[in-house]
Amino acid sequence: MTSQRARENSPGSAGPGEFDLIRRYFDHPVRRAALGVGDDCALLSLSPGMQLAVSTDMLVEGRHFLSTVEPRRLGHKALAVNLSDLAACGARPLAFTLALSLPRPDETFIAGLAEGLFALAQAHDIELVGGDTTAGPLNLCITVMGEVPAGQALLRSGASPGDELWVSGTLGDARLALEVFRGRVALEGAGFEQVRAAMEWPQPRVGLGLALRGVATAAIDLSDGLVGDLGHLLQRSGVGAQVALGQLPHSDVVAAQTAALRRECLLAGGDDYELLFCAPPSRRAAVLQAAAAAQVPVQCVGHITTEPGLQVLDEAGQPLDLGRLQAFDHFKS
Ligand code: ADP
Ligand code: MG
Repeated sequence: MTSQRARENSPGSAGPGEFDLIRRYFDHPVRRAALGVGDDCALLSLSPGMQLAVSTDMLVEGRHFLSTVEPRRLGHKALAVNLSDLAACGARPLAFTLALSLPRPDETFIAGLAEGLFALAQAHDIELVGGDTTAGPLNLCITVMGEVPAGQALLRSGASPGDELWVSGTLGDARLALEVFRGRVALEGAGFEQVRAAMEWPQPRVGLGLALRGVATAAIDLSDGLVGDLGHLLQRSGVGAQVALGQLPHSDVVAAQTAALRRECLLAGGDDYELLFCAPPSRRAAVLQAAAAAQVPVQCVGHITTEPGLQVLDEAGQPLDLGRLQAFDHFKS
């Protein structure tokens, strides 16, 4: 992963070098992979009949997280957003790589980062098998690999007219926290801690994704806001949808905000890392069973239509003008 470049731990440089950091913080023994950290490549053996599901997500300081975030939470979130993509595909986590760019070899920071990262990795039985470490602006890029029986991955493209649309957990808390950090909303105490935890400590719905294999017809994880992400699913499936704003699951903290802010949080929130999925009404019991098995609440929020486009009905049943709501776009916001 590296050719010729200045190594930080060249003789005479102060502090721990690249290889010291890797050995101290990232070289954990692997159980499932045939070979982990330390060689030019890691080696993974796939079971017969399985496909490898691969996804990458990058977190850039100032763009995806604030410089003030606790390192442990940052380590957690960097892996959580990646696990969320495996969840959306119904893939079982196997292994991940970590490409890390750091301004300084700050060991307190790196130890915290590794702690948050490995705690979540352990919880989901995924192992770190390699990566790259370099000096530079703070930036974490993780690639996750998971396995799924051939042909059984949940895709964005499988929705059919008549399918019901479901959402896991609650939406909007993370967006509300962002508005507090931006100084646009005043919120303190337990309410603030709750939405802050949603933003900095998301729980990827891996168990739910696995339980929905063979049940859901299509799925996507909500990272950029419901309207935008549902739009991707509708486009890939060549269908439309109708969603009831009043059905969208949310916390008491979001419920206590103004109607305009609540809409913004629920429809264009971002950073929710919940699953949005489709299933025919005949599979309602199976959906609820999958949710119960994964111990994640799910809520039916609408249905798929033949006519393309997304219609969101407000609490009075009137179509909302979605023109002003934009999904999070890194080159526009
Ligand atoms: P190469 O020069 O062959 O690309 P490196 O010297 O960059 O390899 O890395 C040495 C070993 O440490 C490799 O196995 C690589 O995958 C691993 N590695 C480097 N950085 C990290 C990291 N942040 N987390 C986990 N493994 C890492
Ligand atoms: Mg390298």
